[in-house]
Amino acid sequence: MHAGVIGAGVMGSGIAQWLSARGVTVILRDVNRELLDRGLANIEKTYADAVKRGLMTEEKAKQGRARIVASTAPMELRDVQFVIEAASEKIDLKKQIFRDLSMKVGPKTIVATNTSALPVSELASGMISPDRLIGLHFFNPVSRMKLVEVVVAGETSDETREHALAFIRQIGKLPVVVRDSPGFLVNRVLFPYLLDAVELFEAGVDPRKIDNALRKWGMPMGPLRLIDEIGTDVSIDIAATLEKRYGRRDHAPGALIWLRERQMLGRKSGRGFYKYEAKSEEINESLTEWRRGVHGDQSAEGPNIPPQSQQDPRLALSDEELAQRLIFLMVNEAARCLEEGVVEAPEDADYGMILGTGFSPSRGGPLRFAEYFGLQKVVEEMNRAAQSDDKFAPCEILKKHARDGTKFYAE
Ligand code: NAD
Repeated sequence: MHAGVIGAGVMGSGIAQWLSARGVTVILRDVNRELLDRGLANIEKTYADAVKRGLMTEEKAKQGRARIVASTAPMELRDVQFVIEAASEKIDLKKQIFRDLSMKVGPKTIVATNTSALPVSELASGMISPDRLIGLHFFNPVSRMKLVEVVVAGETSDETREHALAFIRQIGKLPVVVRDSPGFLVNRVLFPYLLDAVELFEAGVDPRKIDNALRKWGMPMGPLRLIDEIGTDVSIDIAATLEKRYGRRDHAPGALIWLRERQMLGRKSGRGFYKYEAKSEEINESLTEWRRGVHGDQSAEGPNIPPQSQQDPRLALSDEELAQRLIFLMVNEAARCLEEGVVEAPEDADYGMILGTGFSPSRGGPLRFAEYFGLQKVVEEMNRAAQSDDKFAPCEILKKHARDGTKFYAE
């Protein structure tokens, strides 16, 4: 099998490495030699780690590396079965790439985008055969995350969808089929949760308390720590895309903007909500001071910063209540994804969130958890929270199940 990968950044190099280790020959492309070399160094590191950890023999790693041809020149792509575009997240750039690809690929080549949030169907506009376009959303780091969201756009043919699913299974990844809409499933469900954690922080809740409460609840990592992992800059960009469609629940709070303005981009820059030095992770005090108003710095204050009053009921939340409040936002969004047909079945939403974010497997995913907790109780709690913030208002399908005594999963 032959594939092309466009863009040798974090994702492109990760995808190229994964494919090459599974017998696929890869043509890897970027705009200049320096960027390609950086991508090849990432690939080398992933192979070296796999050998060091005993996951692969040196011989296999050598064979894998040899399957990658890296080039800045236009490439012959007529014989490749798949091209995966993983260039920078800019719609005009991607459209141009797809127009060019349209001319270069063979009559059966499937072209895929790894976009995190851009509408796949918009990329199809300049293409000769938009029926062969699909989204294949890999997760970072590609070498560890098994999930791939297979994004089916209005133009995508059934044949393309079936080939893409077979390809994803063949390379040892686990697909979840999602409809083309902002954030697809995983980011859409995750972001209201992440962003409310920032609002809790702004209200005065200790960041360690927030992250510990969620870890205690069963998440592998607290939400503020996860934002540091994603990057405050990337998080703001994703939130902006989501907010355009879904509104207030995806609004990036001022503290995030403040961090980005000061180049505190999360773990990759050494500082975000936490400070990363050698192996230690301490709270980033400059932000804590900002929150307390020690600096009197108003630049980050936006319309959504709640009053820092000791009366704020969010300050009195127990760990359990705090975790539930955040998890309910995920439950609501996962239910909406089902309601709107972004996923076909509750299993897809739960499976996607467990594999894509590490959502507590023992809780069974957001929808399973909600059923176990009791859908009526979920709706009651959410209605109560909605009295002070309407982003908690339960969606129709949740209310309907609560009213009728029905469930997402058949008995
Ligand atoms: P990145 O900035 O690390 O890499 C993008 C690469 O694309 C750069 O090396 C750039 O030079 C190259 N590029 C730009 N124009 C090009 C062109 N015309 N031809 C070939 N290469 C070109 O970005 P990334 O984090 O790897 O993200 C790539 C894509 O994957 C984006 O659409 C992003 O939204 C998506 N994505 C990112 C993550 C993540 O966690 N980083 C996760 C899932 C999906």
